Amino acid sequence: MPKKRNNKSLTDELKPYVVPFRSDGSRSFRLKTHRTDERGGLDKEAATAIIEANRQRLSDLQERLYATDRWAVLLIFQGMDAAGKDSAIDAVFSGVNPQGVDVASFKVPSTLELNHDFLWRASARLPQRGRLGIFNRSYYEECLVVRVHRPVLAKQKLPPPLLTRNIWRERFEDINGFERYLSRNGTLVLKFFLNVSKEEQRQRFLDRLEQPGKRWKFSMDDVAERKLWDKYQAAYQDVIAHTSTDMAPWHVVPADHKWFARVVISSTIVSALEKLDLHFPKIDKAELPEYERVRVALEAEGKRRGKGK
Ligand code: ATP
Ligand code: MG
Repeated sequence: MPKKRNNKSLTDELKPYVVPFRSDGSRSFRLKTHRTDERGGLDKEAATAIIEANRQRLSDLQERLYATDRWAVLLIFQGMDAAGKDSAIDAVFSGVNPQGVDVASFKVPSTLELNHDFLWRASARLPQRGRLGIFNRSYYEECLVVRVHRPVLAKQKLPPPLLTRNIWRERFEDINGFERYLSRNGTLVLKFFLNVSKEEQRQRFLDRLEQPGKRWKFSMDDVAERKLWDKYQAAYQDVIAHTSTDMAPWHVVPADHKWFARVVISSTIVSALEKLDLHFPKIDKAELPEYERVRVALEAEGKRRGKGK
């Protein structure tokens, strides 16, 4: 007889796809030591089976999360253009009830958004209790694109005395404080950096240009940003080194093989949700006679109208 799988053995099985990629601040962080083409000893077929199993598990966990209505889950996705954020979100969450999921994509801020502090627009899109919230890009752009393009910072209209050389360190501190606050108030925060190589990005841009169905995804801005590759890598290094915490860990996801990225992302989310130990709410025994009364009444109504059950 096969051994019954319990939640513990399931999360143990997924550990090889979670633990090596997790950065929680307990060790120093070097982005350069993380491979982009890792496959975790899997081939595409084995990966597909794991992704499918995780999809079903996630669908069940999402229902429990919603029914429990205590925790909120915030999932942050960052990465260079063509790192596969959109398609990973699509693949990992495609089996989940869309009514329980909120996706927010953060683009260049509007005039209204620039008139507020940098966390304002993200705060407005945080998931409610019982829901999964996906951030496709996030307030981390404030230490990435804004850091790489200094004129963007000027547009934020910060009072000049506050614009010092400590600004990035201060933003890391504020983000850590914000995430600690969310965590202490019942939001589980998980962050994913889709780590793609410069060569793989080149191939994906070429694909977008060569395949008519993908051409709409290509933007001239992407090529301009690619020229700043090293500056972005340095910014990501600094972001992850300073904002990896136990309450809100980063996961540096090898993203050259999209299927392996999906294994890591889905395994990480499933394992973290399993740890929340979500159960469907128990029915109060005192209410059972009332339920029985309603059930009998509904049955009697059916009989009166000549219907069965
Ligand atoms: P796609 O895969 O479709 O290209 P995308 O997330 O790159 O998805 P775009 O509309 O191409 O979407 O780009 C959004 C742009 O908005 C990115 O270049 C990003 O750096 C920029 N952006 C996001 N947040 C900020 C911010 N706070 N300040 C300035 N620019 C930002
Ligand atoms: Mg883009």
